[in-house]
This record gives sequence, C-alpha cells and structure tokens, in this order.
Amino acid sequence: METLLVSRESKKENTVVSVGGFSVGSGNLSFIAGPCSVDDYETTLAIAKKVKASGATLLRGGAFKPRTSPYAFQGLGKEGLQILSAAGKEAGLPVVSEITDISQLDYFENIDILQIGARNSRNYELLRAVGKTDKPVILKRGMGDTAHEILQSAEYIAMGGNTNIILCERGIRSFDNSMRNTFDVGAIITLKEMSHLPVIADPSHAAGIREPIPALAFAAVAAGADGIMLEVHINPEKSLSDSEQALTPKEFEEIVKKSKAIKAAL
Ligand code: PEP
Ligand code: MN
Repeated sequence: METLLVSRESKKENTVVSVGGFSVGSGNLSFIAGPCSVDDYETTLAIAKKVKASGATLLRGGAFKPRTSPYAFQGLGKEGLQILSAAGKEAGLPVVSEITDISQLDYFENIDILQIGARNSRNYELLRAVGKTDKPVILKRGMGDTAHEILQSAEYIAMGGNTNIILCERGIRSFDNSMRNTFDVGAIITLKEMSHLPVIADPSHAAGIREPIPALAFAAVAAGADGIMLEVHINPEKSLSDSEQALTPKEFEEIVKKSKAIKAAL
C-alpha cells in the first residue's frame, strides 16, 4: 500500500492549522459553534456574539445545505455566506461554511475555512478542487467511511498542495437508531495515530437530539480530540434546520467549561 502524505509515516509532527486567531492541533482545545443553517443577519450576529463570549474560536453556519430531503430548507446560498462572514467579522470570529459544489468556490472568498460534509466525503472532484485552494478545510467523515477511507479522501486534498486539513468525526451509520448516528469515539484515537492531521468531533450531528450532546463532547475530549464542533442557536426551536439538536448558548457555555476542565485533568 502506498504511503499517504497525510499519514504519520510521512510526517511525525502534528500538523497545526491556523487562521485568524484560530489554531487547531497545537494541543489546545478549539470550539466551533454556530447555527446549522445561517438565517438572518441579526440572529447570526446574536449567536456569534454569545458563542464568542463563551469561548468559541470559530463561527460555523451552513449556506449551501446538503439536505436528505429535497423539500427541506436548502440554505440561503451566496447570501448566507455574506451574512456569515459579516457576522463573524463583527463578532471577531473566523468563519467556516460547507461547500457542496466546485462552482461555488468564488462565493467563499470571505470564508476562512471550507467544510466538506459527510455526504461529499467521496466527491473526489470537489476534494481535488479544494486541494488547489489555499484555504484550510474541515473534512467530515462519511457515514460509511473506514478510517483509512477518510484518510484517502484527505489525500485527494493534500495531493493538490493543501495540507491544512482538519478531520472531523461526526458519527456513522449503524444498526442502532436510538440516536441519529453512532458516535465513533474510537475513530478519534485511531485517526490521530494514523495521521498527523488535527482531529475534531461533531457530537451534534452524531446525536441528532440535544440531550446526549454534552456527554459525547466530553468523551471526545477524553479521547484526545483537538476541537469540538457544536450547533448552537439563540432560539433552538426557530432554527431553520436540525432544531432538535441545537443547543442554547448557555448549554454551549457549560460544555466549554467542563471540556476545558476534563482536558486539564488529563
Ligand atoms: C453540517 O455540519 O452542517 C453538516 C451537514 O454535517 P454533516 O456533513 O456531518 O452531516
Ligand atoms: Mn446540521
């Protein structure tokens, strides 16, 4: 088997991804927070200010939403990206948003980090295209990807010269449907062993419901995750998508506090 650029064999030292004041992989714990989908500017800014005050290092918000149902809210598109970057600037947070097609690249000029979602983890042309940009990438694990497969997807990005890649465990499909997905905490450990890239965790999409999210986040921290991504909304029930898993800013603040304590204890 060929040695991957993203593997530990190729590079012993951890890769640190930095953008704006945000750096992940250097031993500190990063918190990425924000709405599932961007709605209006006032709401996005209010969320941004709240999560910033509680310790978020990066603001998230989807504008091009890859929804399972074509009838579900599809995101605000280009306008959503403009709202997100304006809110991030105002609140003093760099921003991340999901890109679902190569044709959208120009719209992402003011977006600090490109996200490739679970559904696009095997969109090899999209992976190649973001690999030719100079923007950091958060690559989510596909719902059926093995650790080796997600590393091969990361390799498509790295091959283009862009090694600013953050891997993200977000739950996989299993036979159990008590949560939306099965959070694979072991994959965080495995990926950090197999690769020099930072690994973050998204317990929000793993759980699909609010209640288990804090404990899943703490498990990820204990497993050595470099950061946690969480969906937060000032008014969870008004969230345009994934409202059942949206946390309040207060709940987010608690998770940040306790995660830092767990990290320090370890
Ligand atoms: C998201 O983070 O907005 C998202 C759609 O997540 P995933 O790709 O993990 O389903
Ligand atoms: Mn979501």
